[in-house]
Amino acid sequence: MIDRQHFSTLRGPRTALICGISGQDGPYLAAHLVSCGYRVMGTSRNGAACNRDGLERLGLLGRVLIERMDPAEYRGTLALLARLRPDEIYNLAGQSSVALSYEQPAETFRSIGTATLNILEVMRVLELPTRLFNAGSGAMFGDTGGLPADESTPPRPSNPYALAKATAYWQVAQYRTLYGLQACTGILFNHESPLRPERFVTQKIVAAACRIAAGAREPLALGDLSVERDWGWAPEFVVAMHAMLQQDTLQDLVLATGVSMPLEAFVAEAFGRLGLDWRRHVVRDERLIRQDEIRFLRADPSRAADGIGWQAESTMVDVARRMVEARLQSERVPSRRAA
Ligand code: NDP
Repeated sequence: MIDRQHFSTLRGPRTALICGISGQDGPYLAAHLVSCGYRVMGTSRNGAACNRDGLERLGLLGRVLIERMDPAEYRGTLALLARLRPDEIYNLAGQSSVALSYEQPAETFRSIGTATLNILEVMRVLELPTRLFNAGSGAMFGDTGGLPADESTPPRPSNPYALAKATAYWQVAQYRTLYGLQACTGILFNHESPLRPERFVTQKIVAAACRIAAGAREPLALGDLSVERDWGWAPEFVVAMHAMLQQDTLQDLVLATGVSMPLEAFVAEAFGRLGLDWRRHVVRDERLIRQDEIRFLRADPSRAADGIGWQAESTMVDVARRMVEARLQSERVPSRRAA
């Protein structure tokens, strides 16, 4: 196996380009790569006006060069990659909400399917020796009937976001086979963190619980709490993204905790951490239950353990606790238990 760390010390710091650096995962990945000695660059559709909140929270302002790029636009992508020629590209960009993908199917496809194809095409045309990590999604498997999805599970996407992710997954596999590109997809199951915006249910729960703990009299409307999900801790997942690109032969891997729990477990932990009984504050809202909601999302990440030695350490309950703690710290919301 190539000692890539040794290699990097011979020819200067390795360079990594994170497409979609302003999201949840981008800042954590940037922090990990900086700690590994990389020179890190990131892209945003907004260039200099990119949202830097996550980078700021992780103390990375000024340590990451931000460039304007929308991977869904071919010419701009070609120009930037020709100029930067990074050793590694992490494609995290794209519309990432399943709910929004029903309202914006074309934009979702463009920002995932067209964008991934453009990056692959540019790598092929420029004959870049760059390695590409593509952020795939376990959503592409659809309903597996409660069986854990692994790398051999056939994709059966059941919403516009999952369809776009399945397309990008096949594009990456095709360019690897047809043109020998060094590219792989991490088939990511959900991973959360304090950087999640409130439009995602985890942060919605945590934010409401903290407001209620601070005295707000508001109900928290949620859908079906019995659905099972595999939710991990984002800072752990970015370590796996990087590890996937350090292999001699790149392969697609499922990245998940392997432990699915009902949504109720997350709610109970978030409220319980604040000394609250969730049953007194949560109301069921039928409008939040989608017709095609998948009841059980389960994953088998054992190939990642064998292939890159990665295993998630945190489960959904740990994630809920840490997100509440982070919010308490940032907002100084009084916890009844702590009081
Ligand atoms: P985010 O949604 O937080 O960030 C994605 C970034 O993509 C945004 O910050 C945005 O940056 C850019 N972007 C490009 N086009 C669009 C568009 N049309 N609409 C919205 N944003 C766009 O994603 P995460 O960091 O959470 O996830 C990283 C990747 O991993 C994504 O591809 C996601 O689909 C995938 N994934 C994530 C999971 C998770 O649990 N976090 C689970 C499974 C897959 P800007 O506005 O600066 O251009």
